[in-house]
Amino acid sequence: MEKIISLAKQRGFIFPGSEIYGGLQNAWDFGPLGTELKNNIKAAWWKRFVSRRGDMVGLEAALLMNTKVWEASGHVSNFSDPLVECEKCHHRFRADHIVEKYLKDNPDTIHEAVSADLVKLSRDIESFHINCSDCGGKLMSPQQFNLMLKTSLGATADKTSDVYFRPETAQGMFVNFKNIIDSTRKKLPFGIAQIGKAFRNEITPGNYIFRTREFEQMEIEYFISLPKKDADWERVFEEWRKEMHEWMSYLGIKPDEVHELDVPKEDLAHYSKKTIDFEYDFPFGRKELYGLAYRTDFDLRNHGEKSGANLKYKDNETGEEYYPHVIEPTFGVERSVLAAMCSAYTEETVGNSDEEESETRIVMKFPSWLAPVKVAVLPLSKKDELSSVARKLADDLRTEFTTDYDETQSIGKRYRRQDEIGTPYCVTVDFDSLNDNAVTVRDRDTMKQERIAISDLKKYLSEKLAE
Ligand code: ATP
Repeated sequence: MEKIISLAKQRGFIFPGSEIYGGLQNAWDFGPLGTELKNNIKAAWWKRFVSRRGDMVGLEAALLMNTKVWEASGHVSNFSDPLVECEKCHHRFRADHIVEKYLKDNPDTIHEAVSADLVKLSRDIESFHINCSDCGGKLMSPQQFNLMLKTSLGATADKTSDVYFRPETAQGMFVNFKNIIDSTRKKLPFGIAQIGKAFRNEITPGNYIFRTREFEQMEIEYFISLPKKDADWERVFEEWRKEMHEWMSYLGIKPDEVHELDVPKEDLAHYSKKTIDFEYDFPFGRKELYGLAYRTDFDLRNHGEKSGANLKYKDNETGEEYYPHVIEPTFGVERSVLAAMCSAYTEETVGNSDEEESETRIVMKFPSWLAPVKVAVLPLSKKDELSSVARKLADDLRTEFTTDYDETQSIGKRYRRQDEIGTPYCVTVDFDSLNDNAVTVRDRDTMKQERIAISDLKKYLSEKLAE
C-alpha cells in the first residue's frame, strides 16, 4: 500500500488534503491524473448503465435535503455504527472493528460471527479483555453513533435550521420518483441512476481513500413491479449481480480478487431484505468494494406515507396501484479508483541481458479506456527542429486522445515515468522522422516498438486503444 500511496502522490494521482496546513485527517485531494481516472470511471459507468440502456434515466439531486427525508428513510433513527470510547484518553473506536481485530490476532478463539448487536459486542469486549489500543485504558459500553453529518442553513442558529448532508445518494431518487414518472412516462421495470457526493461522520475513517467522511457514490435504484413470489425479485437481483461482476472485470479487477459476502440477516441495513457485499482483496485486507441490496418497497412506502404524496405506480393495463420494489446496485467511486489502482500496480524485472543491469519496472496496467493519459509524445532531442515537429504532433493527437508531451531527461526515464502512470502508448520522434515522416510507437505492456507513418498514427492509436 505504501508503494501505491507514494507513487500516487509523486505522479499526481492523489494528494493529502490541505497539506500545506498540516492536512486534515483522512481528507484527500485528487491531482491531475487522479481526476482523469475518476472522470473516466464515472463517464464509463454512466455510458454503460445509463446512456446505453433504454430502461435507465439519470438524476442529480441536491446534496442537502429536507430533514423529513432522513426521518422517513430511517436514517435519523437507524443509520449508526457501534462506538466505544476509552474512559481515559476518550479516543473512539468502531466496536465491531476492534472485536474483529482481536479475533484476527487470536485465531484460536472460539467465537460466532461478529455482529453489530450492542449486547453481544459489549460481552465480547469484556470477555476478551479488550482495552484501548492507544493508552491501554478501559473501554466504556458500546453505543450507537449516528453517522450523518450535520450543518445549519442560513444566518439564524436555531434548531430548525439544522440539516444533514446526504449519507447516500439513494434518497434523492426515491423522493423524485413521481417527478420522474410524470416527466418521462417510464414503465416498470426501469431504473434511476445518480453519481454524486455523500458524507458520513465515520468513527474510524482510514486505509487511505477506502473510508473517508466525504466520498462519491454511483448508485442505481431499479424499480420493479410488485413481486408475486420471491423468484420475481431474485431474477432481477441476479441480473444485477452479473452486471456488477462484468463492470469489475472491465475496471481491470481479476475475478479471484473479488469475493461475494451474503450479509447475514442480523447485519442487514434497516431497509434491506437481502444484501450481497462484493469484497475486494485490498492490501490491508478483504473489504467491501460495492453492494447490491433488495430494498423492497421500504423507501417509496415510507416517503409516500410520511409526505402524503402519491408515490404509487399505476399499471395502466391491469389498473393495479402499488409501491414498486427496488433492487439497488451501489458503487463507491473512490473504492473503484483504489481497487483499479491496486489491480493495475505491477512490478516487473527488465533488462537482464548480459549488457544491461536488470532493474524493476513499475507499470500501472490500467485497461486503455481507464488510463489517465492515452499517449505520450517524446522527442529524442530537445533541439528545436525535433521538438517543434513533436509539439505539433502532440497538439494534433490531443484533439482525440488525452496526450502528454515530455522532452526532459533520458528516453529511458521518460518511458519509466509513462509506465508508472499507465500510459498505453509512447510515441518517439527522432531525427529520421524528419525525413521518413514516421514515428516509433512503444506498447506499455509488451514494450515492443513499431514504426508508424505520422499520417496513419491517429487511426493506428484509435484501433489499438479500442482493443
Ligand atoms: P462499509 O461497510 O464499508 O461502511 P457500507 O456498507 O456502509 O460500507 P453502503 O452504505 O452500502 O456502504 O454504501 C455504498 C458504497 O459506498 C459502498 O459499497 C462503498 O463503495 C461506498 N462507501 C461507503 N462508505 C464509504 C466511505 N466512508 N468512504 C468511501 N466509500 C464509501
